[in-house]
Amino acid sequence: MEIVLNDGTNIIKRGSLAQVVADNLGANSIGGFVESFVANYLCNTCLTSRTDFQRCNVADNCQMRNRENYEEHLQLLTEDPQSVPLHGIKCACPLNQSRYFNITTKHSPDIMHDILEGLGKMECKLVLSQLIFQDKLFSIDILNARITNFDYGFEDVKNKPSTINCGTLHITDSNLKNSASQMWCLLRFLPLLIGDKVPRNHAHWQLLLKLRQIMDIVFAREITEGMCHYLKYLIKDYHFLFQNLFLDINLIPKHHFIIHYPNALMEVGPIINCWSMRFEAKHYFGKLIAGVVCNFKDICYTIAERHQIQQCHEWHSTKMQEYFAKKFSAVKVFETECKDLILEKFPGLFEQGEIYFTAKASIYGTEYRAGMIVVTDMFNNLPLFGEIQSIFIFGDTPYIFGEMLDTHHFDEHYHSYVCAKPQRAILFFVKQINLKDFHPLYVCSSYEESQDRTKYTLKNAIN
Ligand SMILES: [Zn+2]
Repeated sequence: MEIVLNDGTNIIKRGSLAQVVADNLGANSIGGFVESFVANYLCNTCLTSRTDFQRCNVADNCQMRNRENYEEHLQLLTEDPQSVPLHGIKCACPLNQSRYFNITTKHSPDIMHDILEGLGKMECKLVLSQLIFQDKLFSIDILNARITNFDYGFEDVKNKPSTINCGTLHITDSNLKNSASQMWCLLRFLPLLIGDKVPRNHAHWQLLLKLRQIMDIVFAREITEGMCHYLKYLIKDYHFLFQNLFLDINLIPKHHFIIHYPNALMEVGPIINCWSMRFEAKHYFGKLIAGVVCNFKDICYTIAERHQIQQCHEWHSTKMQEYFAKKFSAVKVFETECKDLILEKFPGLFEQGEIYFTAKASIYGTEYRAGMIVVTDMFNNLPLFGEIQSIFIFGDTPYIFGEMLDTHHFDEHYHSYVCAKPQRAILFFVKQINLKDFHPLYVCSSYEESQDRTKYTLKNAIN
């Protein structure tokens, strides 16, 4: 494409199709694969049959789909239309006409449906059923009371999980009534919610923790090659443990789909960047409109028009800015408790100089508040946590200010880091972009007596 700039110069930009992002059904539909997940060859990445799913838990043992066998199966399809169920292909993918793109080599993992709405729901139900009804470690009333009363913190309170119905845990076909966001919240906080009631090294609990380890890598925003290799063995162990604990339950297709995640991470980087959560959030507006406008003739046109108007309003009324806070307070440098640190870090300031601070501010769209916890750095493979006290503005840049915590160890049983306040306060100033993980955390304690120690569970792995 040729673009003419304001100064009259012409530049030529070339583009190519690099990646198609879709949920499982959408990916199969675009790729020309069968759209039924009860078909024999339902995986769009490999040629493993439904019965072989049970034995194959590493992608290295699968015969992968590629450009050649895809074309071969298409050829067979034209010769014999009955061969559809044999190879799982029902028509040609139009995107393959792009010179550098082939649907068989561009994986589009759907971690929202595979894990949060698939394995997470299934496993939570099975493990909780085991702990409550078989092992009788606690009652469902205790679990529900804790789900209801637990302090999830500012960030997660909007995703507070629903209570669990006793019948849901008993009936084979029913599933937990939680949305994907609620399941993400429940899976992250379940160890802190009921960890004190479960003996350490409990086999079913280990299965839940194994899924948490997998989720940490799959939901990470930065990936190393080592993490991809480690994930492969985590998934293998997870399948092995599941099959040993639930002898009469077969692995489901989503168990198979996750064995392709390590390769997908190596090929496309962090797969959280292509999850369906963002599309579903975008579709929510359209679904809402469709339900209320009572248009029975051309609903697509109405939704498109309303969407454009709403988008137009949003772009005109909001201004992209680095930070936003409703209220700032001014203070002289010498009046602050961190006077020495400020003067050392910002040599242009004097003791009589005035600076501004606030207790809560939104920085690049993420809200930070006094009392929240941030990961400032890593040391000896352990994250260093800091408790926010306020947000200072120096020049036109916001700095998060707070007090560092001592990270004691990682408690596997709670899948959390155990921290405590040090004897002597260590203060910190950090820009948001320099945080190891931009997600703020909240002080979370398990129900186990922890004296002055607190536990923090991360949203994803950090390296
Ligand atoms: Zn496969």
